[in-house]
Amino acid sequence: MPECKIEANKKICNCSYEPCSRKGLCCDCLHYHRKMGQLPACYFPDDVEKTYDRSIENFIRIYQNR
Ligand code: SF4
Repeated sequence: MPECKIEANKKICNCSYEPCSRKGLCCDCLHYHRKMGQLPACYFPDDVEKTYDRSIENFIRIYQNR
């Protein structure tokens, strides 16, 4: 079984929501946001990520306008 890369993942994670227990656990992070109809923070540029609007609609909107 492969080892969890949580510490390495945390180094490249751009999520600014510090209290989240899923930080660095990319598998849990992805499943959580997918269930909510969202994408994880790393799909968004830093300035947009900080708004915490992780909806798929927001993702499409920002990439249509950039
Ligand atoms: S993107 Fe969401 S689930 Fe992932 S670390 Fe940030 S707040 Fe937590």
